[in-house]
Amino acid sequence: VAALEAEARSAGVKLMTGARVEEILREGGDSTLRHARGEVRVGIVVNAAGADAGRVAALAGSSVPVDPVRRNLALFLDPAANAGAPMCVDLDTGVLVRPEGSSGWIAAYSDPLDPPGRDISLDPRFLEQLAERAPHRFPFLTDLPVDPARCWAGLYPETPDHHAIVGFDPAVPGLVHCAGFGGHGIMHAPAAGRAVAELVTTGSCETFDLRPLRPSRFAEGDLVAETSVF
Ligand SMILES: Cc1cc2nc3c(=O)[nH]c(=O)nc-3n(C[C@H](O)[C@H](O)[C@H](O)COP(=O)(O)OP(=O)(O)OC[C@H]3O[C@@H](n4cnc5c(N)ncnc54)[C@H](O)[C@@H]3O)c2cc1C
Repeated sequence: VAALEAEARSAGVKLMTGARVEEILREGGDSTLRHARGEVRVGIVVNAAGADAGRVAALAGSSVPVDPVRRNLALFLDPAANAGAPMCVDLDTGVLVRPEGSSGWIAAYSDPLDPPGRDISLDPRFLEQLAERAPHRFPFLTDLPVDPARCWAGLYPETPDHHAIVGFDPAVPGLVHCAGFGGHGIMHAPAAGRAVAELVTTGSCETFDLRPLRPSRFAEGDLVAETSVF
């Protein structure tokens, strides 16, 4: 993110932080965004508000089914960790493991029954759930200590079919949604950025077929089937 920010600034992009959008007003084909540091008038609004995308859509008079759901991570200390190892996912249990530099291994498990919420304290059940499942494919973790200070939780922006929502809002002109990336938003960010850039500058996306990710698929009952949710 830091690298992207530096490159964006050097390309002339204007970034404003600490400017939470609190109101979106439609006026003569444009939108005025009232935010914590003032206001800005724009032709197109991109709702890329992550776990808050539902709230931002509501400010614009629309809705997208994006819910915040807590996800937890644990760090297993291992000075011998192979920092070049790829992220590995055990599809039987849903446990995923990847190296964390030379500190050790990050392991995660997402309970599909976790309800939406905004609590980002570490779920006390998480380490137990992980300990039960990790040995199935990653037995080497069993003998490694967990660093409690480096276990943490954050919010996944989840959608009903666990796929992102990318495209023009069907009801509100000039509103583009780019949200709901669940646990893969960093990996998908370059493609998502490309898609949104094309939507904003040309009105359509030629590089990718965005139809499966269109915002209207939920109302149409045409969800994307997904069996591997991490
Ligand atoms: C524990 C954990 C581990 C993860 N591991 C991975 C991984 O290994 N690989 C991977 O690809 N993904 C991973 N993810 C998922 C990834 O973090 C998300 O999918 C990604 O951050 C979503 O990006 P985003 O830009 O849509 O939303 P965010 O990164 O959440 O950014 C949304 C931004 O919008 C801002 N915002 C919200 N409301 C407003 C408002 N009203 N006005 C102005 N700004 C607003 C927020 O402040 C925030 O800066 C993980 C997530 C968690 C929680």
